[in-house]
Formats: sequence, structure tokens, C-alpha cells
Amino acid sequence: MYYNDDTTIYFDGKFMKAKDAGTDLYGQSLHYGYSVFEGIKSYSTDHGARIFKAKEHFERLRRSAELMHIPFDYSVNQLTELTYELLDRNGFTDAYIRPLVTCSPNMSLSKGQKSYLSLLAWEWNNGYLADKMKIMTSPFQRPNPKAFKVEAKVGGHYVNSILACQDAKDKGYDEALVLDENGYVAESSGANVFYEKDGVLFTPAKGSILPGITRQTVFEICEELDIPVKETFFKPEDMRGADAGFFCGTAAEIVALNSLDDVPFTRNWEETASGRVQQAYLKLVRVLSL
Ligand code: PMP
Repeated sequence: MYYNDDTTIYFDGKFMKAKDAGTDLYGQSLHYGYSVFEGIKSYSTDHGARIFKAKEHFERLRRSAELMHIPFDYSVNQLTELTYELLDRNGFTDAYIRPLVTCSPNMSLSKGQKSYLSLLAWEWNNGYLADKMKIMTSPFQRPNPKAFKVEAKVGGHYVNSILACQDAKDKGYDEALVLDENGYVAESSGANVFYEKDGVLFTPAKGSILPGITRQTVFEICEELDIPVKETFFKPEDMRGADAGFFCGTAAEIVALNSLDDVPFTRNWEETASGRVQQAYLKLVRVLSL
């Protein structure tokens, strides 16, 4: 599903076939989740394939590596150019792009000594999440911000995401709504969250979330459309039974929520401010170039 015999990737300084790539078994990335990565999308536009918010994603990748003390020398421009070449070599336009930075063999608990960049991509034409999701408040908390650099996109953080997401699925829901250590809503396993009441959008303030690039894009769209947004701390009970709610992320785009803990969101999605934000986002990703 992710690659075949013809798929090209970029790994450690060169383009090669995905099937010929390998990694050693003695690295901290594999053993301890000590890696940083990104999730990026490219879209087919009138000007060919365009990577949405390339600069923001590659800046975050560089920042994540810095916060993890992983040496990483690629510039945003280099990363962008290599990724366009990767898309071109594979003939992809609508694609999901996964840059990954892993570390050289080292079993100790000291910082990374040398890193390897992998750039992987696969074709992707629609969001990974079902529309109108049934979500539940998760019994799992987000990683404590005093234990992790939660604003970095680090491999190991996603063990928490897997636990929360699988638990929700096992209980018959589409996704988990994960709280912080104080019981405030943080985000889902892999997306940020908003809810709407009386035309105002609310989203968790920074602290225990990955401050998403899509979340930032929602702020920009709201500014443009004159929709008020509040970043604040709130509990699941503030959100249950609200007018509307959505998850947002690069892969998810903007996906409407059906219910939280079996309590439905009440307004017709198409008539909400959230619905307008979704429409604007879907338009934006296909017109915006670098
Ligand atoms: N939170 C988490 C935990 C995520 O994994 C993601 C996806 N990267 C997001 C939020 C949304 O981030 P972005 O909009 O930058 O994709």
C-alpha cells in the first residue's frame, strides 16, 4: 500500500528504490522512539503538484530536531526542493509526504550523533478520516508537557496516540478525544480539535497539544471570513452538545464530528461557521503554491 517495486525514496543523501533501502537495528530511533518526522500533503493544482505549507512543515521538522538535540543540517529550501524532486520522480501530485529523521547506531541515552533524512511519499486523494466522526473522551491522557517537548513531532509521542486511538476503535468509536493532565481537552490522537457555539469557534490553547499547521490555517481562514475564534482551556462537557465540532490536521484536513460521547452536535453542518471553514480550506489547498 505504501510502496511497490518502482517507488523512489530519498534516503541518507540519495534517491533510491524503496525496496532497496534499509536501516540498522542498533539505533535509538528504533529502540526508544527517538526520531522526528513530519506529515505533509501535496495537491494537484492548475500549476501542477503543490506542497501545502512546505515552509511551515520543514521549519517544524528543523525545530523538532533541535528540541530533541538531533543534529540536522538540511535547510527549508533544500528540503522543499528534494521533496518536489521526489514527487516528480514518482509521478505523484496528490500525495502524503513523510519526512523522517533517524539517528545513527547508538544504544546509550545520550543525544543523537548523526542523523539520516528519509523522504517518503505515497499517493493520497482523500482524507484518512471518515466524515462525521463519532468520538469519545479517552481514558488516556496526552503526554505531560513536563515530561516531553509536546510541541515537537517526535516518534515516541505516538505510542500514546496509538493507545488512545485503538482504545476508541475497540469501543466502537472513530477516534479519541484526549485530555491533558488537568482534564482539559487537548486534541485527538493525530489532529487538533475545534468546537462551535453561537457562531464562535473554540480550540484548546497551547500547552499540551501539537500546535498544528492546519490549526493555524483555520485561524487565518477565520480571520478572512470574520469568524471569531477563542484559544482557551475547556472540558469535554463544554463541548458535548455544542453546535458543531471538527478535527483538523494535514491528513485529516477538516473533518466534521458527529457526536462526542454519544451526544450529537446539534446544528446542520452545512449551515455552521465550521462548514464554511471546511469549504474554504478545501479550496485553499488547491490554489496555494509555495
Ligand atoms: N496533533 C497531533 C498529535 C498530530 O499528530 C497532528 C498531525 N501532525 C496534528 C495535531 C495536526 O498537525 P498539522 O495540522 O500540522 O498536521
